Amino acid sequence: MPHRFDIAIIGGGAAGVLAAIQCLRQATMPLRIVLFEPGPRLAEGVAYATDRAEHLLNVPTGRMSALPDLPDDFLDWRCARPGHTEAARGALAHGYAPRREYAAYLRARLAQARQASHASLDILPWRIDDLARDADGWTLGAGAARAQARRVLLATGNSPRPLPARGAHDLEPALQVEAWDYAGVAAIDPDAEVCIVGTGLSMADVLLTLAGQGHRGAIHLLSRHALLPLPHATAQVADEDFQVQPLHAMPLRARLRALRRGMRAAAARGLPWQATMERLRPHGQALWRSLPDAEQRRFLRHAVRHWDIHRHRIAPSVHAVLQTLREDGRLHLHRARLESVAATAGGVRLAARTGDGRALELAVARVVNATGLELRVQAMRSPFPAQLLDTGHARLGAHGLGLATDAEGRLLDAAGHPQDDLRAIGSLRIGEAWESIAVPELRVQAEAIARAWTGGDP
Ligand SMILES: Cc1cc2nc3c(=O)[nH]c(=O)nc-3n(C[C@H](O)[C@H](O)[C@H](O)COP(=O)(O)OP(=O)(O)OC[C@H]3O[C@@H](n4cnc5c(N)ncnc54)[C@H](O)[C@@H]3O)c2cc1C
Repeated sequence: MPHRFDIAIIGGGAAGVLAAIQCLRQATMPLRIVLFEPGPRLAEGVAYATDRAEHLLNVPTGRMSALPDLPDDFLDWRCARPGHTEAARGALAHGYAPRREYAAYLRARLAQARQASHASLDILPWRIDDLARDADGWTLGAGAARAQARRVLLATGNSPRPLPARGAHDLEPALQVEAWDYAGVAAIDPDAEVCIVGTGLSMADVLLTLAGQGHRGAIHLLSRHALLPLPHATAQVADEDFQVQPLHAMPLRARLRALRRGMRAAAARGLPWQATMERLRPHGQALWRSLPDAEQRRFLRHAVRHWDIHRHRIAPSVHAVLQTLREDGRLHLHRARLESVAATAGGVRLAARTGDGRALELAVARVVNATGLELRVQAMRSPFPAQLLDTGHARLGAHGLGLATDAEGRLLDAAGHPQDDLRAIGSLRIGEAWESIAVPELRVQAEAIARAWTGGDP
């Protein structure tokens, strides 16, 4: 078989590319690696595919290195770019780069790693739709094409959630714009009345684009909780006095109380509340794993939305745009659950229900779906990860989120046995790790998987 590899990586978004970089860097012998990515460009996925300058990273440049052993690597890369100078290094380190630069950076590091490696990398534009174990490892299928690999890494990434409303399926595409269809959002008529469903980070992207186009029409924001993203503090400090260790032994409520107390104590010392969250940030996975199953469920049911807005913050400049739109009275925030959408002569009618049971109707020209990522594999748009459940190569992750893995990313098969030669990186590991989507986690996972798979084993 011409397509025979040592390591196959399914998905060439940021996570798959980080894993390829690490396998290439760590290989001590001529391994054959393949990266399957059907999209036009590597390292983009939904997060970094935007070519719009207003879409910023929500992590400062100084913390977005692809390489755990070179923490300033992204900063170094940006400083060396035309238009940036070494003198501006401090400001760059604390600033928020346009997201489009991040994919370019990852591709540059992949090219470097490829050139310097003992291993080879093939990049094939296949969408893998089948995975079967055989005597030599795995057979991967994409339509009629077949490849073999001894080890397989699932890096299939983020799956945007469909609009959760009756009638959404029948709404013609021109009326329903996906938040990650960056060109589609930019093409919305500036006078159109718009409803953005979902009030998280992708809603902020949509608002930035609309504001940048001088949008004049009314903008409705609708979500069940109506909580808007919060900003990073201007100085990104961690409150080193806040004691994280005791939290591990506490139930959820006590943890949240301790967190609020910590924030008040930080404020008394002149620190912003964000400093307490910064202190917690490196402990996210351990804190999740130390919560008993029922407490994790309680967190998902009652606390996750509040957690998200405090944990996943936006650049201060992005928050300022949001505030200005609010103060100008151009944003109308609705706390309600969307029930149905239907086409009308002028656009779309949305029917929703507020928390106290009242019906809410909105008539707009366009509805924008900014409801975020689907973390339940059975509800994902791509059937591939869910197929692994049917074939017994995987079982559902905790609380139905992602797939079940151990802490090293080995997929558990239907009987619960970890498979050393079938691993996952990124959002598929969210049930086990919770913090498993952002680059600071992805780069560590990529490094560890490459170490396990390239450590002198041909
Ligand atoms: C809008 C947005 C902004 C973000 N901003 C930040 C940030 O500032 N900082 C940060 O640290 N993190 C950020 N994140 C988190 C971000 O998700 C990750 O950093 C990263 O993009 C995840 O990469 P991934 O490769 O796991 O998934 P994806 O980016 O979704 O890539 C998965 C890839 O797999 C391919 N694929 C899927 N199925 C198959 C298949 N069957 N066969 C072959 N290929 C397949 C897809 O084509 C895709 O290219 C952001 C996320 C979003 C959505």
